[in-house]
Order: sequence, then C-alpha cells, then structure tokens
Amino acid sequence: SEHFLSVRDLYVQFATEDGTVKAVDGLSFDLDRGKTLGIVGESGSGKSVTNMAILGLHNPRNTTIAGEIVLDGQELTGASPKTLEKLRGKKMSMVFQDSLTALSPYYTVGRQIAEPYMKHMGASKKEARDRAVEMLRRVGIPQPQTRVDDYPHQFSGGMRQRAMIAMALVCDPDLVIADEPTTALDVTVQAQILDLLKDLQQESGTSIILITHDLGVIAHTADDVVVMYAGRAVERGTVRDILKTPEHPYAWGLLGSIPRLSSSVDVPLAPIPGSPPSLLNPPPGCPFHTRCAFVDQVEGDRCRTERPVLPEGRGSACHLTADQKRDIFIEQIQPR
Ligand code: SF4
Ligand code: MG
Repeated sequence: SEHFLSVRDLYVQFATEDGTVKAVDGLSFDLDRGKTLGIVGESGSGKSVTNMAILGLHNPRNTTIAGEIVLDGQELTGASPKTLEKLRGKKMSMVFQDSLTALSPYYTVGRQIAEPYMKHMGASKKEARDRAVEMLRRVGIPQPQTRVDDYPHQFSGGMRQRAMIAMALVCDPDLVIADEPTTALDVTVQAQILDLLKDLQQESGTSIILITHDLGVIAHTADDVVVMYAGRAVERGTVRDILKTPEHPYAWGLLGSIPRLSSSVDVPLAPIPGSPPSLLNPPPGCPFHTRCAFVDQVEGDRCRTERPVLPEGRGSACHLTADQKRDIFIEQIQPR
C-alpha cells in the first residue's frame, strides 16, 4: 500500500490461566510519512499492546498475533525476531513513559545514547560519543559536552525525558512510537516535550505514533486520531474531527480531559462512569454498552447484541444514526 505504516485487522490475544484475553480485537489504521497518529483510550484499551505488536516486543510464548502490520512495504507480523531486532532502533524506536526504568542508572546518559548508534550504525566509540553530544544539543540539554557524562539521576525528570527522545532518535528512525511520553511530567514540561517532538519531526520527517489517555496531548500533537476502547477502534478521524465533532459516546466522555494542556489550571477530569469490560469475556454487541448513556436511543436491543462496525476513513463504530450523533453532540455534549 502507499501508506508508510498500515495495520489491518490486527488481533492480539494472550493465553492466561483464566482463559484468552482479547487485548486487540480487529484494529486497522494507517500512518503516513512525517505524520503523527494519536491513539487514545483508557488503560487496558489495547493501545500499548498494539505498540508492542508493531515493535515485536510481545512474548511469543503466550501471545498470538493475527492480521497485517506493513511498515514501509515490509510485513512485520510474520517477521523473524532477528529481523525485528534489526528494525528496532534503526527503522523504528520507542519513547517510554517512565525514563527512570527505561534508562539504566549504572551508565552515563551519553553512553546509553551512543550504544544504539554503535550497534545499528557501526559507528566507533568516538563517533558515537560525538553523536550523543549532538543529540543532547538537539533535544535542548544545556552544556551537552559536559552533561553527556552525567548519570540519569543527575538529570531532572524533564531532562531525562529529553535524553530518552535523544536515544530514540539517535539512528534517525522512520517511525517513533511514544507511549504516554509526558504522563509523568508536570503540565508546562509536558508541553515543552511535545513541542520538542514536533520540532524534531519537522527536521527529520519521522512518523510518530503517540499513545495516550489524554485528549489534551492529542490536541497538542496529532494529525489523525484513533480512539480505542476494549481492544477495538471505536472512532477515527483527523484531530479536528475528534476534538470538534466527535461522534462516539466514549469519545464524548473523553472530552472532559481536553483543557489540561492548554491551561495552567488543572481542570478536574469528568470521568466516564463505570469501568471497561473484561477482555477475558468481552460483552456481546457494542463493548461500550455497559457504560453508555444512549443505549435506549438505539432501536431494539442492537447495542447489546450486534457489534457496531467502524467504517473506513472518518467515522465511528456506534449504532446511533448520523443525525442522532450530530444532534446529541450539539444539544447535550458540546462545551458551551
Ligand atoms: Fe452506545 Fe450503542 Fe453507540 Fe455503543 S452502539 S456507543 S452502546 S449507542
Ligand atoms: Mg499503557
């Protein structure tokens, strides 16, 4: 296909003592070069599992993957662990939420940035150290020629996150997957880190998958958005579609988190009542029906019995009619 990354009908299942967990249950999306796709949803919605499947970091002993993941023309679901290891770091890399666990406390920041550069690019120690200094400068660390020899604990949380971004970008990958990259940081630093990611993307043309539970982060960063719930994509659109005219009742619930990044005052989240369904025994019909306030507006018992389908392109997996989606949003949901 012409997309840089294409995920088609992805299923990821874990075998557990209690049965099979359907962590990702038929997910499709595309990502173009130089663009950012936001994947948004609560924890347990399958966002991180999707990311692990793309990177090939799932445990093959208890995990079954079906469907297609095509990265720049290369099929990844059937690729060998060796192929995937080569691709990780050089072609695709990741930025984690927690820099304290992703960075080793025992090695200098510079060494940890230099290491993948030596491994994947065949650089010498000296070249890799110079590259680490350059990367620290690019991510905005002051006095990089000195700080390159610091250990992670000598960096602030925001600086460690910048160092992780330097590590992820050191080999100039085509795809960066950032999983909750700013969740542990305060709001001002969050915005700085997201701006940094965007600047680096503009310099290098990297494609980014940004995984988050926070629509405010999406608003700041993404071009296109997939909203996930219970292992499925329930809505897809441009960032403008999702923020201005969301269609799915679950996306309406997420809107409560929007003001966080754009305001210095912490606005309380409006939580969606109830909790996501068990992925061991997902309910029939729409996975959101156990929490949805609009079940009775759909004819018959369809919400509880018939799985709503997500159309290709812009759209939502919900049995409400297009008119109902628009009218309910305008009359009851839209912030006044
Ligand atoms: Fe709510 Fe029914 Fe739409 Fe699901 S299909 S989101 S339960 S109205
Ligand atoms: Mg997660």
